[in-house]
Amino acid sequence: MAADRQVVIIGSGPAGLTAALYTARANLNPLLIEGIEAGGQLMLTTMVENWPGFRDGIMGPDLMAAMREQAQRFGAQIIEGNVTAVNLRERPFTIRLSEGKTITTDSLIIATGASARWLEIGSDRRLSGHGVSTCATCDGYFFRGKPIAVVGGGDSAMEEAIYLTRFASRVTVIHRRDSLRASKIMQDKAFANAKIDFIWDSEVVEVKDVGKGEVTSIVVRNLKTGKLTDVPLDGVFIAIGHTPNTELFKGQIELDANGYIVTHDGSHTNVPGVFAAGDVQDHIYRQAVTAAGSGCMAAIDAEHYLDNIPEDTSKPEQTVV
Ligand code: NAP
Repeated sequence: MAADRQVVIIGSGPAGLTAALYTARANLNPLLIEGIEAGGQLMLTTMVENWPGFRDGIMGPDLMAAMREQAQRFGAQIIEGNVTAVNLRERPFTIRLSEGKTITTDSLIIATGASARWLEIGSDRRLSGHGVSTCATCDGYFFRGKPIAVVGGGDSAMEEAIYLTRFASRVTVIHRRDSLRASKIMQDKAFANAKIDFIWDSEVVEVKDVGKGEVTSIVVRNLKTGKLTDVPLDGVFIAIGHTPNTELFKGQIELDANGYIVTHDGSHTNVPGVFAAGDVQDHIYRQAVTAAGSGCMAAIDAEHYLDNIPEDTSKPEQTVV
């Protein structure tokens, strides 16, 4: 059966849009399905100052809009929509959209990203980009000389807290238990840093001040005593982990213990013809520019794959996990 498409890309962050740009320029007529969080995590940030080429920075949503238009200029077709199921066990691969439509494709690039976890207290999301952030590398610079908090007790929280001491006057780590989850070496580094202090056994119950549209303090509840404390500060970094968006692919492609897609030799997954790019397969770098780079790799890998596609394509040689 002839497939509807040579390449389908799922996800519209820097990885997906770069894959769309490259596959469009390779005349592969790609279809990109945007997904629920169209534009990815950069849509949640304000000024992006570490995307090369923009000396004075660029707003995250503007950068994503430009990437999208650039991919479309070369013929990438971008559709809104959410994928509800995929079948990667038979070729061509099948992708089902929320409105019931199905699309078949010879190759698939997965760029569904990872979503930062939020506290889910309302005020944290409402002040996102206005003093609350989930990315120290992206936003730390804005807190030069200011007191801030980092929420979480894992390696990410310690890494962010240590990194943020370059800018902030003081970094207060808020952790819900009395011991850290982070590795010993990261704990030692954080404890040794004179700019970092800790509030233990505590959770953030509110980030103020939603009315003003900026962070002025956080309300912290001690989980042992119930006591509420107002801690004045200018910024909050939430580092309580990320969740890779791989639910759709479970059981069909290899995932690691944390749910990230396992890639090898660039962007290849264990299913020939299925490639992964960006944060869905990267829990280390997680930068817009590295995601874009891996989207480029996936496009080139898909192009090579399509040039050498096996004759009998009905049953892919895959290790189902
Ligand atoms: P993680 O290890 O899952 O830690 C998440 C932290 O957030 C935990 O301390 C957890 O508390 C806390 N937490 C979770 N949900 C919370 C909530 N709703 N409210 C308040 N606190 C909450 O995640 P991660 O730090 O992002 O690390 C993920 C993986 O990447 C780990 O394997 C880590 O070792 C690795 N990593 C390594 C490095 C490095 O080596 N330099 C850097 C970053 C990440 P509890 O402890 O009470 O569960």
